[in-house]
Amino acid sequence: MALALAWGMPQHPRGRVASISDEKLQELRDRVDLVAVVQRRVQLKKSGRDLRGLCPFHGEKTPSFYVVPDKRIFHCFGCGKTGDAIKFVMELEGKSFPEAAEALALEAGIELSPQDPQEARRAARRAALGEVNEKASTFFERVLWEHPKGKVAREHLAKRGISVETAKAWRLGYAPNLWDALCKSLAQKKVEASLVEEAGLGIPRGKGPGKGTLYDRFRGRLTIPIRESGRIVAFGGRLLEGESEAKYLNSPETPLYHKGQVLFALDRAREAVRREGVALFTEGYFDAIGLHQAGITAAVATCGTAMTERHLELVSRAGAKELVFIFDGDAAGIRAATRASELAAAAGVTARVLVPPDGEDPDETVARTGTAGFRELLSAAQPALEFLLDRELLRVGKDASVEARVRTVEAVRGIVRAAPKGLARDLYIDKVAQKLGAPPDAVRMALEAPARAEQGSARPTTPLPQRPPMRAGAARMAAGTTRQRSAGGDADERPQGLARSPAPPETAGSRPQAPRPAARRLAQQIELRIVAQMLQGTELSLLVESSGAAARFTHAGLRELAERAFAQARAGSLDAAALVQSVEHDALRDKLGKVIEEIDASVRGVERDQAFLATARRTLESALRKHASVAGQEEIGQRNAAAAPRVAHGDGEGGQKTGA
Ligand SMILES: [Zn+2]
Repeated sequence: MALALAWGMPQHPRGRVASISDEKLQELRDRVDLVAVVQRRVQLKKSGRDLRGLCPFHGEKTPSFYVVPDKRIFHCFGCGKTGDAIKFVMELEGKSFPEAAEALALEAGIELSPQDPQEARRAARRAALGEVNEKASTFFERVLWEHPKGKVAREHLAKRGISVETAKAWRLGYAPNLWDALCKSLAQKKVEASLVEEAGLGIPRGKGPGKGTLYDRFRGRLTIPIRESGRIVAFGGRLLEGESEAKYLNSPETPLYHKGQVLFALDRAREAVRREGVALFTEGYFDAIGLHQAGITAAVATCGTAMTERHLELVSRAGAKELVFIFDGDAAGIRAATRASELAAAAGVTARVLVPPDGEDPDETVARTGTAGFRELLSAAQPALEFLLDRELLRVGKDASVEARVRTVEAVRGIVRAAPKGLARDLYIDKVAQKLGAPPDAVRMALEAPARAEQGSARPTTPLPQRPPMRAGAARMAAGTTRQRSAGGDADERPQGLARSPAPPETAGSRPQAPRPAARRLAQQIELRIVAQMLQGTELSLLVESSGAAARFTHAGLRELAERAFAQARAGSLDAAALVQSVEHDALRDKLGKVIEEIDASVRGVERDQAFLATARRTLESALRKHASVAGQEEIGQRNAAAAPRVAHGDGEGGQKTGA
């Protein structure tokens, strides 16, 4: 019955595919070979006129999954999944209907939407870029395994404990430390130079006799192909030889690759994620590879960027009901874990945090504990909300001032309210109360009362952790409600993720205080320039980080943005455009974009060489000095204002509530 139902019923939402005509869809269904499509993922054996295998959608030991070639459907008698080739690809690869249709059409050589020639051209271009990446990967692999220059990489892999089988399965390779080995090889294969450049593999020389010819982006680097929908969309490169400030380098954004939208290893993790209902997020390519090698196959990694809600959406669509963030215990790792936990909380996704002991990398830990031991660590991982709560509570003790304790209650409000009502929330409240030395009922009252900002008297005293803007995808994923923070008010019970904060950036995260517009505005103008300038280059970002200026930024949004830029710069993957895009406040984003445009315009056509860097450095250093002086004035002003009695009014009531 289910079989008959599945076939012939319009079970797929047509979604965005207005451009795929019904005739084309029918042609696709007619021409796609379901058996071949399934067989690429599932081993099938003849069973009468049908084929039978182990169901990829539920764990089983005896096969109850059938492919019925006559009817062009699959059906599982164990879990009831059933449908046609498009449905199979949708379910197995977590694709939307148009994505699945497009993928199948590509294989079958059918042009799905000839009525949009522009999109057809773009698709053809993406396919061509995928082929260039494929050729490059083959080149890198040959160097790794067959060329004397690959020795350093083979040794590195052995030292890391990556087996030859693993390295080959992941198609690791080596980009030799030469200027144009790959570009020359691709040219010999008659690959268009413009494609090599667009794929991000070649960079045009700016001057000298070979001006305009390409040199290799990846040099002296172990290459890690990043795959999506069955093709290589980009590479990560780990430095092994030669000079570079970046240990890891990634392909730039291309028409084929948007790093905020791709998860490394998801193609290999998909089955385990679906089976186990859990996705493990690691920080690096080799963390993920190491875990897979040890049999922990639900591990994925972001491609050198902070986590985005699109990443959450990808694993959620793959069947993850729960996430575990496996991040280092260093400052950058803790920041990443904090951000990821906030993102998950905002999306209403259950998440836990595992920090490997003793500063180990996850692949080191699993090598030490073995697979079973690591699974024990995983199951004992701390809930993400508790992790966030502990982070906030670390800052305050029983001896803290009333004001500090009240601030803490405000700071943890969103975290506690993201916990499900009932026991879990009660336990969090107890924990806060205990840490603050306050009666639990008083803390509960303070936490469950509307934020003081909502009472119209004052803004929240402490900036709540910044939540990245949610878009529709993650919003759909959200279960229930969660906090949304803004300087204008704490909108805890609002369905999450729908609007950007309405507050103007100047006030975001500011503490109640006597207004000091002049110094503050000047400081923030300088901060804006500093951020815009440092986004021009990794070295410039690192310069700002080492100056320590960001800690004194009066603008919370810019401070947070700078910190994320530092993390990217350290990872060698500074992505200015994505960072600007991630700014929550429209006004701030626009302003920052404008300043960056100005800077870009002023250096257009200038070669980004040492002289350019030196000039940029000097400009930046002067801005940093100016900021230090202005921020100093601003801090003195704040201290004076804090000493003035009128500023304390916002804290009085809350102070009594915590029963101090
Ligand atoms: Zn099944």
